[in-house]
Amino acid sequence: MSEHNSALTRRNLLKGAGVAAGAVALGGCLSGDQSNSQQGALSTAFGNCWMCSHNCGQKAYVRDGSVVNLTGVDGHPRGSAGEGTEGTLCPKGLAQLDKTHDPKRIKEPHIRENGTLKKVSWEKAFQYTAERLVSFDENNGAETFLDATSWAETDIFRTVWRDLYGSPERISRGIHVCAGPTFVTGGMMGVGSNNRVPDYQNSEYIIAWGRNILNSFAGQFEAKGVLEAIENNGATLVTIDPQHTITAQKSDEWMPIKPRTDGALALSMANVIIEEGLYDEAFVENHTHGFDAYREAAMDMPPEKAAEITGLDAEQIRTVARGFAEAAPQAGISVWTGTAQAGNGWKATQNITALNGLVGNIDKPGGLRLWKYPSTASFGEVCEQDYTNRAEFKDPALKKYDEYSDYPARHIEGIAHNLVPEMVENEHINGIVCHHDDPLKDGNAESWIEAIEAMDLVISIDAYWNGVSRRADIVLPEATQLEKDTLGTGNWNAYPNHKWVTGSKAAVEPRWNTKPDFDILKGIANEMAEKTDNDDWTVFQQWDSHEAYIDDQLSTLDLTLEDIDSGEKNYALVEEYDYQQYGENFTFRFDLDQIDSFAAAAEEAGMDTAPEWIPPGTYGDSTSEEYPLEFTDIRSVFFSHGSNQPHERLQDQFAKRNQLSEEDYRGNYLYLNPEDADARDIETGDMVTIESETGSGELMAIVTERARPGLVTSQYGFGQTSAITTGEDTREQSADGMNTMMLHNEQMDPITGQVDRHIAVDVAPAGGD
Ligand code: SF4
Repeated sequence: MSEHNSALTRRNLLKGAGVAAGAVALGGCLSGDQSNSQQGALSTAFGNCWMCSHNCGQKAYVRDGSVVNLTGVDGHPRGSAGEGTEGTLCPKGLAQLDKTHDPKRIKEPHIRENGTLKKVSWEKAFQYTAERLVSFDENNGAETFLDATSWAETDIFRTVWRDLYGSPERISRGIHVCAGPTFVTGGMMGVGSNNRVPDYQNSEYIIAWGRNILNSFAGQFEAKGVLEAIENNGATLVTIDPQHTITAQKSDEWMPIKPRTDGALALSMANVIIEEGLYDEAFVENHTHGFDAYREAAMDMPPEKAAEITGLDAEQIRTVARGFAEAAPQAGISVWTGTAQAGNGWKATQNITALNGLVGNIDKPGGLRLWKYPSTASFGEVCEQDYTNRAEFKDPALKKYDEYSDYPARHIEGIAHNLVPEMVENEHINGIVCHHDDPLKDGNAESWIEAIEAMDLVISIDAYWNGVSRRADIVLPEATQLEKDTLGTGNWNAYPNHKWVTGSKAAVEPRWNTKPDFDILKGIANEMAEKTDNDDWTVFQQWDSHEAYIDDQLSTLDLTLEDIDSGEKNYALVEEYDYQQYGENFTFRFDLDQIDSFAAAAEEAGMDTAPEWIPPGTYGDSTSEEYPLEFTDIRSVFFSHGSNQPHERLQDQFAKRNQLSEEDYRGNYLYLNPEDADARDIETGDMVTIESETGSGELMAIVTERARPGLVTSQYGFGQTSAITTGEDTREQSADGMNTMMLHNEQMDPITGQVDRHIAVDVAPAGGD
């Protein structure tokens, strides 16, 4: 199915529509009931930003039922630097305002009849959904239904799809398409999956390893924590990144590393630290396992050897290794997707995480904080109704069938994003529910599109028409975040000694005929109770509203949503906890030979259990004469996984951030170094073709010294399959730019199945600009 880039069409439309279009371009603040809106009284309400799921607190200003302004919340754990400091929102968070009143949203439930999506009532939509789920179970088995729900304002998705319907197949952003190696190595090594966010404010040495902390956050507190550490502690900031990012610009040291060589650099830093006796001998002696194997791997990687592999300077490697070790334990490494989304990402993150154990910064001020969650009540604790858990003893297909015995990832994970198309072909997956997510942008895109079209049942719960909702059998229009009650809990935040919760009642009523996700799931469940005569599905009837359910969850903390949401803030600091609470028996594992599931996967993948250097191309693509450039995608602070694309205010800001005028918005751009551009006769503004062994597409080039020679990058989440950006309800039209995952196939980290986003490509002028 071919879909066309519509950038120029959109601009032509904008010009034609003149002033009226200009008003829409400013987003929700000028849409809806604007003619009356200056008359009504201004009130305030709260929200919690879910654009990157990290809950920065929002203060919403509401007039006549419309949100007219949005700001941060002072002192908010994720949105500020702590008590008495201003809360802010990044452009993605602010875009919730645009989203709430956006006329391009899906406004009514739809079901497919005779090949066409038709508007129906909610009653009919729920009835039809239940009918299709029942017949799907009879024909295919519920265990072949894939739960592809992303982050949500309610946690009952799992109860519906796994416990009640009976599917063991779950694909989530975290492990499969975000940072599987970082999360899973952290857990196995003993420091948990949150080893990616150190105790910034108390740090004296911060390494942003493959992370652009000042431009893409896990909550606004993160960037603020780094800046506070620099200002208050005189902290050193080091950025390790093949691109000269905004964080690199502010850093004391920028290490322009060759892509996929991070594992060698980490071992080399360990080499310096061990050779020079700078490591924490007491911690290593008392709290670690596998140091000998680690030391052996590190001794094999002196800085001169690492310099050749990484393209870095051996003396700079020594300087940074010494600086990090000497500042320890007040030294932290921030690591996440940048080093994880590669075929050798497992070893890169294992080697990087090992540095924490080496210098003993575990759970010490300024080091690797072992963040803790507050103890809100789980679903099981608040549920007063017994039901049969239908997926409890079912094996996911990847573990169950011999067809997948060549994939080591099956020992660790139940499914891998890139293997779903193969599982559909094998009829081990026959249906899917997608919520607020578009897996067609996350890897192996062409095959995923075919897989979605081949499935027997596709349910989309979303606010926008995108690659999945346009192809779905059932489309259930979701309210946006400011139209829902929310409860957020988390760990890392601006208060390193406090657990916290944040929550908000809906700031405005759901627009058009949309519903919050909690109400959609309850509607499906109630209809399933009717259709199946199975009382298990009545489980949500014990709560009259999402707020009542949230209040039950908060009961362990003696709080209600009303308590959190009233007054001048929408959060509560609930429990204090100290550093270094891990106890005498704590073990940090350099070598993962004690973890049976990993040992089995590693053996099949031909990998050691201890830290080691694995060169690029061992798993995944190698560059070649035909495809001499390495492509990897990046994120934008303006678009959360591409899902803010319909908002023209952000599109214009994005173009300007790239030193272009808003007329030059073309979706995502391709960044390449002048050396690579000159060799191909490419200039900024040219349209270029980017091609891999698997696919190709067109992008507008931006020639910049900020990209390393040999590396080309572009923002992911655009183009084919993205939310539409032009006109109302023009479902056939795709967004501007290119879905860069059309270049991709099934390559992945063999251990976690994490999508490997490093692709060998070549770039050539396409003609035109
Ligand atoms: S960092 Fe930005 S997108 Fe993420 S939660 Fe905060 S405001 Fe929202």
